[in-house]
Amino acid sequence: MKLDAKALRYLTSEDFRVLQGVEAGSRNHEVVPTPLISQLSGLRGGSGVHRSISNLAKTNLIAKVKNAKYDGYRLTYGGLDYLALNAHQKQKVVYSVGNQIGVGKESDIVVVAHSSGSQRILKIHRLGRISFRTVKTNRDYLRHRNSGSWMYMSRLAAMKEFAFMKALRENGFNVPEPIAQNRHTIVMELIDAFPLRQISKVPHPEALYSELMDIILEFARFGLIHGDFNEFNILIKEIADPSGKGKASVNADEESDENVRLEPVIIDFPQMVSIDHVNAEMYFDRDVNCIKRYFQRKFHFVSDAPGPFFADAKKNFMKNPGKRLDVEVEASGFSRKMARELETYMKEVGADGDAGAARDDLDDEEEDDDEEGSEEEEEDDDDEEQEQAGQSSADVDESSNRLETLQ
Ligand code: ADP
Ligand code: MG
Repeated sequence: MKLDAKALRYLTSEDFRVLQGVEAGSRNHEVVPTPLISQLSGLRGGSGVHRSISNLAKTNLIAKVKNAKYDGYRLTYGGLDYLALNAHQKQKVVYSVGNQIGVGKESDIVVVAHSSGSQRILKIHRLGRISFRTVKTNRDYLRHRNSGSWMYMSRLAAMKEFAFMKALRENGFNVPEPIAQNRHTIVMELIDAFPLRQISKVPHPEALYSELMDIILEFARFGLIHGDFNEFNILIKEIADPSGKGKASVNADEESDENVRLEPVIIDFPQMVSIDHVNAEMYFDRDVNCIKRYFQRKFHFVSDAPGPFFADAKKNFMKNPGKRLDVEVEASGFSRKMARELETYMKEVGADGDAGAARDDLDDEEEDDDEEGSEEEEEDDDDEEQEQAGQSSADVDESSNRLETLQ
């Protein structure tokens, strides 16, 4: 499912109010009855509302639900995207929309621009998207739940990610600057860098490796475990280092590159957990082992030092604690109850972040997606392969020429 920025230009203000009406109705109704849409849109019923409903359905912002007891509609991801993008635009966070640079299992990543021309990243959370198509049992299970839950859960994922990014950034961690959050989306700073996954050669892997392990330990000292710490979620920035003491460079064969320092920027936080989580040790070990395995496979580097182990992290955390960011995030509005709801849902829909993709990748064998059609009417059948590998600076530059102005 791609973000369709074109649809944005063609809506009248009436259409927009009707769309908001469907969104409001979706909170309590799986299928929003047409009379309720009229009422919630604040427009007098009649042909105007019906014309708008038909416009919105034609552009796939809402979908008619067949076989229901009554005639009704529900909001689609496209409709929710529209509402979120519109809000970002009103708040002057986003001026125009550029290329989609990533299609993950649980999100879409789009380059957008501010009116100043500076580029930003719009991350659109799409929880439940894959599982409807691929996991039959989950699909059957989810069908009986309030269909609005994907919307609510995607919003929770965006809220969680934004809250953690903000707390991390304010406490000196190298993460993109979070700029805004609306509904299931966040806008953040664009990092002009490749994911570690794209870096073929690191002349001093031991330096980068130990820096990454330090980050895992530093997260723990602040009460956190990333939960999806892997080569897709670590962007490697190249920083000119005139001192010539670069710890690691992209290309060992070119002497001049020895003056480039590699700086990891960490992204992707919906799976972050507290160090007090019941499965904290499992998540911690998984993060550590992901990096160990990747460095061994890709750079043929195996550290002499065992660990780090969760017990070390915990000891360090007790002896020399940073601020409790897990507690701070709770206080900021992403409550423990929300965290539990999101975690349960992510388990139900099989959302396992990039760690799952990384593990599949190691096997070099991909299972075919379940091709059974989904019940979702509006979803075009986007069976794109995951494009986790993402982004190069060249892509970013190119996209700047193709920005599309909203409305
Ligand atoms: P997902 O949850 O789908 O894995 P991510 O947040 O990891 O989403 O983003 C997917 C990909 O998009 C990343 O691997 C990276 O290539 C790119 N990306 C995400 N955020 C940024 C950013 N702020 N700057 C540059 N590239 C980004
Ligand atoms: Mg990711």
